[in-house]
Amino acid sequence: MPRYDLHCHSTYSDGLLPPADVVRRAAARGVDVLALTDHDEVSGLAEAQVAAREAGITLVNGSELSVSWEDHTIHVVALGIDPTDATLLAGLAAIREGRDGRARRMAASLAEAGIPDAFEGARVYVTSEALISRTHFARFLVETGHVRDIRDAFKRFLTPGKPGHVAHVWATLSEAIGWIRGAGGKAVIAHPGRYKVTAADMRRLLDDFRAAGGAAIEVVSSSHTPAQYVEYATLARLYGLQASCGTDWHGPGESWMDFGDLPEMPAGTTPVWSDW
Ligand code: AMP
Ligand code: MN
Ligand code: MN
Ligand code: MN
Repeated sequence: MPRYDLHCHSTYSDGLLPPADVVRRAAARGVDVLALTDHDEVSGLAEAQVAAREAGITLVNGSELSVSWEDHTIHVVALGIDPTDATLLAGLAAIREGRDGRARRMAASLAEAGIPDAFEGARVYVTSEALISRTHFARFLVETGHVRDIRDAFKRFLTPGKPGHVAHVWATLSEAIGWIRGAGGKAVIAHPGRYKVTAADMRRLLDDFRAAGGAAIEVVSSSHTPAQYVEYATLARLYGLQASCGTDWHGPGESWMDFGDLPEMPAGTTPVWSDW
């Protein structure tokens, strides 16, 4: 059975390694099929494809789109997209465009909390133009001694209700799924266990997602507990969605699970790769 890891990041978004190093690390740790899924970006895929051919593994063209659903931010992983599709590229560029203004508002919020110059501070860690993310602010907060580590940064700052978090409007769910399907890909709800939603909200999200043409949800993710693997496998079955798995790896020392560490998909699920 080939080993799949369908969610990870490179320096083209908020990961720490360039695509070729990400691919080599995944291959060395036993991954056979890898999807590179940089936030709102596909520019790392060409480099990743070259490295995957050299390493003898399969690279699935992916991305992770930032979406606003009701008043929640949801991430939708795209798998098997054509990275040259003009409508998809325009959509991703539009999402990225909002990030700079959002980052300035985040910095203003941190300044009010007594942490000045966070925009310039976070920019130091940005490795892809127009792709400034909360992760870059988290690295700045660690470096300047305001927090112990990345996890602490998100616990005390950068999350709803905390300094450094601001509301932001991303793409709509139906826009994102439309771009993904138009580019020949499948839409997957990323790490559903991470969203602070009620059970009723989750069911409405899954209804909306399926109605808009979504294909799968992440069942096995480094963001999930083993109990959540079972919970989301059950929801996948209930909603007729396929199941995906991914580490959401960002870099050495920054991620809860490394390549090759993903457990098997729970029995009774239909993997997202079953019809590839
Ligand atoms: P953004 O797209 O700018 O909102 O940033 C989202 C990114 O922040 C995610 O993709 C993760 O890389 C990171 N992130 C969010 N929450 C956490 C957390 N609790 N711990 C560590 N990283 C997080
Ligand atoms: Mn990230
Ligand atoms: Mn995500
Ligand atoms: Mn991710």
